[in-house]
Amino acid sequence: MTRHAAVVDGTAVDTRHWIAGRRTESATTFPDSSPIDGRPLAEIARGTAADADAAVAAADEAFPEWAATPRKERARLLHAIADGVADRLDDLARVETADNGALLRAHQRSVMPRVAHNFRFFADHVRALDHEDFTTRASGSATGPGHRNHIAWDPAGPCALITPWNAPLMLATWKIAPALAAGDTVVLKPPEWAPLTASLLADISAAAGLPPGVLNILQGYGAEAGAALTAHPRVRRIGFTGSVATGRLVAAAAAPNLTPVSLELGGKSPLLVFADADIDLAVDLAVQQYDNAGQVCLAATRLLVEERIATEFTGRLTERVAALNPGDPRLDGTDLGPLIHPRQLTKVDGFVRRAVRAGARAVLGGTVDRSLGDLYYRPTLLTDVAQDSEIVQEEVFGPVLTLQSFRTEDEAVRLANGTRYALAAAVATADAHRAERITARLVAGTVWVNCFYVRDLRAPFGGARNSGIGREGGTWSFDFYCDVKNTVTAPTDGGGHG
Ligand code: NAD
Repeated sequence: MTRHAAVVDGTAVDTRHWIAGRRTESATTFPDSSPIDGRPLAEIARGTAADADAAVAAADEAFPEWAATPRKERARLLHAIADGVADRLDDLARVETADNGALLRAHQRSVMPRVAHNFRFFADHVRALDHEDFTTRASGSATGPGHRNHIAWDPAGPCALITPWNAPLMLATWKIAPALAAGDTVVLKPPEWAPLTASLLADISAAAGLPPGVLNILQGYGAEAGAALTAHPRVRRIGFTGSVATGRLVAAAAAPNLTPVSLELGGKSPLLVFADADIDLAVDLAVQQYDNAGQVCLAATRLLVEERIATEFTGRLTERVAALNPGDPRLDGTDLGPLIHPRQLTKVDGFVRRAVRAGARAVLGGTVDRSLGDLYYRPTLLTDVAQDSEIVQEEVFGPVLTLQSFRTEDEAVRLANGTRYALAAAVATADAHRAERITARLVAGTVWVNCFYVRDLRAPFGGARNSGIGREGGTWSFDFYCDVKNTVTAPTDGGGHG
């Protein structure tokens, strides 16, 4: 490892910024280490406000030409990037696992393929936005019969994209792909705890022929590089995924410039299990919530189980979770890797200790498994928790689930909707009418019935309440990343005043 080059599990990573198609340094660096075993991985360029300025200037300069590039050509380049991701899938998967500790097999089989798919999907979807012209007819809701309305999805300008560490490249490309497809240019600020794959994406985009300045990567800390980007007056969109606390700072920084902000924030999703549910399926869904050691915004960390089956459900779940195999995320047999960082572990452990002090019972886990390393938190299940307690109300972002029981549908809905978060919810029931009744009453951006994590990229994604502002996915992404413009043209015969 030299100052600006690292070799991570056999892959060379340049740890400088990528601005205007060139690698640039900062005066200082910050260390990046692997959560798997604590080994140092790299020294990363520590971006300053001046670096942020240079990155936005590069994006601004590249914007007119990129915006004027035909959609078809932009799509070709995005597909070329997707091909580059597919070619380097294994490198990307290995580097991501070394950096954030999530399972290698998940990165290889689903996450990195999804990264490539993000580019392909938005490259193609943007073309579906054409052909929205319509002619005004005489009616009570419109004036000017015969006038033509032409809707254009114009590129908006340079976008600042800021993303978290739990699925770094997947979440970054979920924003980069629609922004580039829309004709915007991008400055990405990757997460400081997992900054490496973003740098590989810069290499891939250059090899694919993306023009300099269209995609820029600014490394650094949130409070420095991130804050400078969000306050920048030449940034036209801020796409942010991260915590509620940082979301507030981002919104405040955007306010003086009135920069439109998309916020994808935290969650505390409920999984409602009714007595009529297929109990094997319901237990499967609950076990899934320990994926990525619980470091998933969508995770349904609040299990709400109908009282009649609560004992049986808890017993079956406990058995299954006890059989999970925590350990090195690079090994195929591992189910659960480490937490990302000592600070995350301290946070998770603090939540659990305070919950137990407040009367919760740890049916499973509640401690660190030191036999594996410093960051391996045992999958934890807490019962005897009060609805207004911290452990039920706050996002833990670790492998910690709570279990509460309910007697009636009303009570289930009240508990489910009873936090400030509303990112997702899931319902396990065999009764389709019940599913309809319950889902209609749940407050959440996404509701799953008898399934979880199923995503179609055409669907809107985002959160209600404190879980976010706005929706991304399909046309919703373009709604955000474009300046939508309606042009009304009078009929050539000059008539139609109304
Ligand atoms: P975080 O808010 O601490 O950091 C997210 C990003 O913001 C990082 O890149 C960080 O450097 C940057 N940042 C920090 N301070 C900043 C500032 N003042 N100005 C600008 N940028 C700043 O979140 P995290 O701990 O990295 O990620 C975990 C959180 O992300 C959880 O709350 C999780 O629920 C949420 N998340 C949400 C979604 C979603 O789609 N809703 C997806 C994944 C994660």
